[in-house]
Amino acid sequence: RLIDIEVEHTIEEYATDTVLRDSVRTMQNAVTDDVAALDGRTVWMVNSTASGGGVAEMMPKLVGLFRALGIDAEWAVIDVDEPVFFEFTKGIHNLLHGAGDPDLVDHERSIYEATSRSVADELEDHIAPEDVLVVHDPQPLAAGSMVADALNVPAVWRCHIGSEEHSEKSRTAWEFLRPWIADYDRTVFTLPAYVPAFLETEADIIPPAIDPFSAKNRRLKPQEAATVLARADLIDTDHPVERFDQPARRLQADGTFAPATDPDDIGLLFRPTICQISRWDGLKGFVPLLRGFAELKRDVREDVDASVKTAANGGDDSTDSERSAAHRQRIEDARLLLVGPDPSSVADDPEGRQALENLEEEWLALDPEVRSDVAVVVMPPDQHDSALVINALQRCSSVVAQNSLQEGFGLTVTEAMWKRAVLMGADTGGISAQIRDGEDGRLVPDSGDPASVARTLDDVLGSPERWDDWSYSAQRHVTDTYLVFEQVTRWLDTLGELVD
Ligand code: UDP
Repeated sequence: RLIDIEVEHTIEEYATDTVLRDSVRTMQNAVTDDVAALDGRTVWMVNSTASGGGVAEMMPKLVGLFRALGIDAEWAVIDVDEPVFFEFTKGIHNLLHGAGDPDLVDHERSIYEATSRSVADELEDHIAPEDVLVVHDPQPLAAGSMVADALNVPAVWRCHIGSEEHSEKSRTAWEFLRPWIADYDRTVFTLPAYVPAFLETEADIIPPAIDPFSAKNRRLKPQEAATVLARADLIDTDHPVERFDQPARRLQADGTFAPATDPDDIGLLFRPTICQISRWDGLKGFVPLLRGFAELKRDVREDVDASVKTAANGGDDSTDSERSAAHRQRIEDARLLLVGPDPSSVADDPEGRQALENLEEEWLALDPEVRSDVAVVVMPPDQHDSALVINALQRCSSVVAQNSLQEGFGLTVTEAMWKRAVLMGADTGGISAQIRDGEDGRLVPDSGDPASVARTLDDVLGSPERWDDWSYSAQRHVTDTYLVFEQVTRWLDTLGELVD
């Protein structure tokens, strides 16, 4: 299925922005020869879903910018109506991250192969031998290799998944993928550490990137951000605003999701708010983040109780911790927002619902005092509305967290760094490649351990004097390395060499 893409911004529009101008001009100079080499060819980007997750997020921006540069580019999504196919590919995804059952069931394998065959047949009707095929991730990997084989079209496999740890499980998954990968001319990975050792095909490194003009990342004035949050039912306002057709919904004490009846108590804008926005996936670390937050809250409460007792006994304050009164107050006031998509809107992630249910159980089991400080929120299902809500949330939160247990890259981190948010990320994979600890924000040493989360959060909330430095440095880092202009330059370098 071809996805319609409009070129939203011309190159000159990007170049009018003074922050972006240098990056845009550098890109234009670097890609001239590669754009010429692609003349007369269509670049086909193929992936598994049009919405949900980082790949779907990047695709329209990348294809849009290719077109703005005069390249003929198309985005195709494999239309698979076979749940077993996605269950199998999600299983492979998990294994590559060292999780799940390494016994690849024959029946599922054969469904993967048969489905790939029919996807390949469909792609072959559109693609010409002189075109260029770029296939993203394991879902369309086999279909792409069949097309490359049948048409002899130059082909690249772009793997967005990666883990620095190589386990027996990840080896099983790689062994399965290996014969298909061999049919590609080149491969692309996010970080050098993610390239599997067996790979004979040439591997390029292209980190993901964000489009600074997209709805998710464009500048929002404070008033606009507040309006977006009010339209999503996430904050209350006396001023009449037109609600989104389907606003955000929040987990209620009866276990259902409903529009927030009392949005004000989420505390955004007026309370220190820690926010994590991710797909509902066990590897995103929502549960240890929630537990760590609850632990820090309890710790402060006990601390306060102890000092009250000491004072009542006429003693000194020696049982009190090192925290200043302002620091303690900040923790007492802190709110945690755990935000993700409506699970039914993410076609290629069948485990989303289960992961959300696990989190719901955790939330319902919290002691009521802490529970009222934690909101579990499901985004408006409309993609444009939810992009605006993410933009506003990242700008209005005091701390943006990404506590993943493993993370190939973590676009949510890039998005928040670009907005000068204060970052607290897990010390893993792509997150630690982006956040330099103590320079662009803070890293949680062991994101699976609530105590480690609590200590780092305590530290972040106790260092407001560092926030400006961190966030300034974070934005510079993204401007230099993770904007779509740098990404396009690297892609065209790879594609130019491919057709050379
Ligand atoms: N995202 C979204 N809606 C949500 C949660 C996340 O659009 O409810 C976006 C998020 O802003 C980011 C992407 O999905 O652009 C997630 O990319 P990331 O690399 O962080 O993780 P992935 O989902 O690819 O594992």
